Amino acid sequence: MATLHLSRLHFPVTALGPGRRIGLWVQGCYIRCPGCISVDTWAPNKGAVTTAIVSKAILAWLGRADGLTISGGEPLDQGDALENLLNDIRPRLAGDVLLYTGYPESAALDHPLIRSGLIDAVIPEPYELAAPQTTALRGSDNQPLIALTRLGRERYEHLLDAPPDRTLDVMIDKTGVWFAGIPGPGDFALLETALRAKGHRLATSADARALPDKD
Ligand code: SF4
Repeated sequence: MATLHLSRLHFPVTALGPGRRIGLWVQGCYIRCPGCISVDTWAPNKGAVTTAIVSKAILAWLGRADGLTISGGEPLDQGDALENLLNDIRPRLAGDVLLYTGYPESAALDHPLIRSGLIDAVIPEPYELAAPQTTALRGSDNQPLIALTRLGRERYEHLLDAPPDRTLDVMIDKTGVWFAGIPGPGDFALLETALRAKGHRLATSADARALPDKD
């Protein structure tokens, strides 16, 4: 049993990998990419929970899940806890495990969790606000999609150069309304404009350095 700092856990997520997936967002990220849409996951030392509790929550979805997507926050800063969790659930998960990290590609591929065989595909490199976004599952085109296992190649090879599909999952729970997926550049600004026109106000956790000036 280990301690994981967890931001969110949700099923089903359809916009972050093939099929209906379990989404796990860790809490804490020191990379702080300009334009990050998950600023709420930056603060460390929040959401402490044992991997046994996370495992039990995931267990309820395992039979229906096509995979698990781990994002954040920065998952590789919590590699030991995630390895502990995956060692427990992986034998009962029929699907794949996809992991997002802001670590550079070489450091990510050298990380013990990525080398453990527990991860089928990884998307490394920090988000780059100024880079184009023309590929599926990636926030910016500097981020490669790397299949690590045979299952990873089966699941992700057709997505290596596929265009983004702009799908977002919308969740409503006691914390409010939140999105999972990869929004296109300016999508949240467009949503904010549309909501404002109807008399609503949108507050996102996007990095303020990338937001347009308010009028
Ligand atoms: S995009 Fe990912 S790596 Fe970059 S600051 Fe946000 S959570 Fe961290």
